[in-house]
Amino acid sequence: MAKKASDYQDKARGMLAGLAIGDALGAPYEFGYKSKDIVELGDKISHFHAQTKNFKLPKGAWTDDTSMALCIADSLLEKGGYDSYDMMDKFTKWFLYGYRSSVDHSVGIGQQTSLSLLMYGRHKTIPKDTRKTNRAGNGPIMRLAPIVIASTKKDGGKPQSVDHLIHLAQLSCRETHDSYIAIAATTVFAGALDYALHYGFVDEHILRYVPNLYPEDRNEYVERLLESTQRSNDRSGESLKDHGGYIVDALTIALWGIRNHNNFKDGMLAVIRLGGDTDTNAACYGQLAGALYGYEAIPEEWRDGVHLSNELVDIADRLLNMDECPIIRTRFEDDSHFMAL
Ligand SMILES: [Mg+2]
Repeated sequence: MAKKASDYQDKARGMLAGLAIGDALGAPYEFGYKSKDIVELGDKISHFHAQTKNFKLPKGAWTDDTSMALCIADSLLEKGGYDSYDMMDKFTKWFLYGYRSSVDHSVGIGQQTSLSLLMYGRHKTIPKDTRKTNRAGNGPIMRLAPIVIASTKKDGGKPQSVDHLIHLAQLSCRETHDSYIAIAATTVFAGALDYALHYGFVDEHILRYVPNLYPEDRNEYVERLLESTQRSNDRSGESLKDHGGYIVDALTIALWGIRNHNNFKDGMLAVIRLGGDTDTNAACYGQLAGALYGYEAIPEEWRDGVHLSNELVDIADRLLNMDECPIIRTRFEDDSHFMAL
């Protein structure tokens, strides 16, 4: 049982634990289930279950979403800031050797992430003229909580600007998904998490972060993103059912879960019932709902039953206690903190 937290600390804990809980609750339905099949399971989905269809995971165990988030958390804590190379080394260690996995090997790596890790093995730095990809899987936002907790403006610590938080979020996206639409979606999600943490609600304001951060010739990506997230207002969720792993869908579904439900549990179950990439959709919703409602508002069965339950709380506390989260070095030649190896 974790010690009593301040409101702010409670929300940071909620953000990280919410990620892992969503991942573990959604994982059993990621493959082989349509939305209608999950709806037919009724209340069964409100408990942890083993994932037997594909990964053979024990109940409460989570997948790539949480493993990669913990790689980020470990790197930020060990290095005292953001270090591209160390983060990519940890991702690689997870993928190859199961570092920070809930079982003894890595589980559930996405296509784009595996391609990026392969490329990293060959060329550690990203040259200035590298073309951005059009692929935009949901990887960057499923693992975002540690970046936001470490770099958000906090009580006592050195004040940090939202621009700094957004810069870190965008870098963490680019490590595996160097695509304009993925960067735009990650920017919005980082803004939403920060907004939920500080102000206790999420609204259209979060979208204001995006246009300022893009050159005008990239406006098509922002437009596409803004248009797509309008689907979060569709209460029935009909237009969001059974989608694959597109980042804009995961972002929209997380917003939908928040906008159409008023507590952590109901939103979580509704998101899983939409089907599609259930673990990642639920991990994204879990971060946002955790930041909004806090750790104590998550059902006890979920808080205690998720793999590494106490350690997740401890990691969130340690990230929040970082006075600042500077950028130590990046591997992107077009970034101001680029450092060649
Ligand atoms: Mg997963």
